[in-house]
Amino acid sequence: MPFTQLQTELDTRKAQGLLRSRRTLDTPQSPHITVDGKPYLAFCSNDYLGLANHPQLSAALQQGAQQWGVGSGAAHLVSGHFDAHHQLEQQLAAFVEKPAALLFSTGYMANLGVVQALVGKGDTVFADKLNHASLNDAMLLSRAEVKRFRHGDMAQLANYLEQTNGQARFPHLNPLPQAGEEANESLREFSVKCGRKLVITDAVFSMDGDIAPLREMLALCERYDAWLYVDDAHGFGVLGEQGCGSLAHFGIKSPRIIYMATLGKAAGVSGAFVAAEQVVVDTLVNHAHSYVYTTATPPALSVALSQSLQLIEQGDALRTHLQKRITQLRAGLSDLPWQLMPSETAIQPLLIGDNHQALRLSEGLRERGIWVAAIRPPTVPQGTARLRITLSAAHSTADVERLIGALHELAC
Ligand SMILES: *Cc1c(COP(=O)(O)O)cnc(C)c1O
Repeated sequence: MPFTQLQTELDTRKAQGLLRSRRTLDTPQSPHITVDGKPYLAFCSNDYLGLANHPQLSAALQQGAQQWGVGSGAAHLVSGHFDAHHQLEQQLAAFVEKPAALLFSTGYMANLGVVQALVGKGDTVFADKLNHASLNDAMLLSRAEVKRFRHGDMAQLANYLEQTNGQARFPHLNPLPQAGEEANESLREFSVKCGRKLVITDAVFSMDGDIAPLREMLALCERYDAWLYVDDAHGFGVLGEQGCGSLAHFGIKSPRIIYMATLGKAAGVSGAFVAAEQVVVDTLVNHAHSYVYTTATPPALSVALSQSLQLIEQGDALRTHLQKRITQLRAGLSDLPWQLMPSETAIQPLLIGDNHQALRLSEGLRERGIWVAAIRPPTVPQGTARLRITLSAAHSTADVERLIGALHELAC
């Protein structure tokens, strides 16, 4: 058998309690779903505002398909960029108060494309150790030097930035050009490209739920002339005035921030966008491979997303309800043998530690008709397996009460 070794590897994973598999839902995304004919109360989607199955979004998607058909038929730079995409980009840019925005097919692709387009050999990326896997993959792909700082540790980030300061490296050119030395054209062009510094971070950490110290990070980026790339997959739509996201949450604004948010989580649809200065967006249009070399998303999705953006803007009641469920859950679980992690967002992980115990608890909940995902390494560090509870505006007080009750039963 040509794949015996692969089977052995999977068997090993299984023995470690790390084998992953999928379950198939028979009903649309919602806290109340049917899986294999059995009803479940679910706490694992990222559909924070309960928009994924919203009738107005389904209607907008249908209307979009009537108007634009199904496929885009080409990449954006060929003939796949439609007015529906264009309108949505302008709405998104205005919403997050940036001069320009660019749609990507997914957040994963946005991260790969942005980091690869903005930095390369001779540049340095500074990254929080708990960043999302797509950011980690992105920096490897970029071939920039990587410095990973301890989670949320601004002193270590400052140290790394300080060490890199004035150390712009010129891998193909020796010796370094001296100050005042007449540089030839190619040298000048090269020196502009090298020694860039890009700090990249999740705004809300996807497996911990805590919020990055963006204000401090921006101050460091200003001090060391670095760019700041913020992945707001879990903040957009939920945090800040009108759900504008994590930048609004902190009240920060700067041209050096490149902002990315995904549109398949709180926005309830699919895709992602990057919002930044026009020159950054133009650079991405020209250089981000995951933008250039891929078919544009169906324009009908953009029609649905424009509608979603309106629901987000008008969604204060949803966000207030979500906030109340978060408070309710934290109060209800404060006396368990396991600790809730320090999070104020809709991501409320219950730290278990051991992989097998996390799986057993998840299984115990499942037997009680409740679905909470057990998150294990390598998604999270060794020894920090957890139940990742996510709340949604679609959860009722009774739903959260049921989860609290079940976890107390399992703790006995
Ligand atoms: C989900 C997620 C992504 C990927 O976005 P997709 O649109 O699902 O590809 C990127 N970054 C973070 C922090 C995420 O949680």
